[in-house]
Amino acid sequence: MIKLLARIGRGTTVAIISLIASLISIAVTALAVAGLNLAGFDLNWQVAMILAAGVPLVVAPLLSWYLIGLLLHIHRIEEEMRSIASHDSLTGLLSRHAFFDRAGNYVSLARRDQSAFAVLIADLDHFKSINDRYGHPAGDAVLRLFADVVNSVARRSDIIGRLGGEEFAMLLPSTGEAEALEFSTRLHAAIGKAVLKHQDDIIEYTASIGVAASQPEAGDGIDGLLAQADRALYEAKRGGRNRTAVYREDDSRAAAS
Ligand code: GH3
Ligand code: MG
Ligand code: MG
Repeated sequence: MIKLLARIGRGTTVAIISLIASLISIAVTALAVAGLNLAGFDLNWQVAMILAAGVPLVVAPLLSWYLIGLLLHIHRIEEEMRSIASHDSLTGLLSRHAFFDRAGNYVSLARRDQSAFAVLIADLDHFKSINDRYGHPAGDAVLRLFADVVNSVARRSDIIGRLGGEEFAMLLPSTGEAEALEFSTRLHAAIGKAVLKHQDDIIEYTASIGVAASQPEAGDGIDGLLAQADRALYEAKRGGRNRTAVYREDDSRAAAS
C-alpha cells in the first residue's frame, strides 16, 4: 500500500484523498439533509452542499499532506534500513547474509527449472601486503575498486556479494562452465586495467578465482557449490595466483587454467 503511495506521489495522493473526502461528505450530508427535511426541518440544500463539498476540500489537503508526508518518510527510512542490512557498507555489494539468501532462492528456482548456473569465488592476492605497504585506507580503496570492476563486468541479473575480508562470491544465472570461464577471463582483464592511483604510487593487484558450474540435474545447494568453488580457488592459489581454476566433479580436483 505504502509502495503504491510512493509511486503515485504525495501531491496526487493528497488530491485523490481530498476528492474522495469531499464526495463522501456530499453523500452523507445529502442523506442527512433529506432525512431531516422529511422529519420537518427546512434545511437549505444549496448551503448544505456548498459546506459539504467545501469543508473537506480545505481540511483534507492540510491533514493528508502532513500524514502522507509522514508515511512516505517512514517508508524511505525503512527502505534505507533494509538496504543497510543487505549491503556491505564498504563496497555496496550484497552482504554475506544477503548473498546466501538471494543465491539460495535462485538455486531453488534453478533446480526446479533445471537450468544451469555457475558460482565463482574471487579472493584478492597477497592483499595483506597491499595493506602493509600502502595502509588500510588504501586497501579499502582497492576493495571498492574491485567491487566497481566486478559490477562493470557482471550482468544486472548476476548475484554478487562480499563474503568477508577480500573474498567475494558471484552467482551467474543461466551460465554454463565455458561462459563462466569467459566471464572470469574478462574479470581478470578488467582488474589488470583498473589500477588505483595512490599518492605517487600506482597500486596494482590481482585476484584468484574458483569456478563451480552447476549441472541442471545436480542437487547441490548454494553451500555445496561455494565449497566446490572454494576448492577450485585453493587450486588457483596453489597454481601461482592471478588465475582461474574450475572445479571438476569427475576427478574431484580443480583444474587450474
Ligand atoms: P592470499 O593471496 O593467500 O589470499 O593472501 P592474502 O594476503 O590476500 O590473504 P590473508 O588472508 O593472509 O590476508 C587477508 C588480509 O585482508 C588481511 C586483512 O587485514 C585484510 N582485510 C580484511 N578485510 C579488510 C578490509 O575491510 N579492509 C582492508 N583494508 N583490509 C582487509
Ligand atoms: Mg587474499
Ligand atoms: Mg582470503
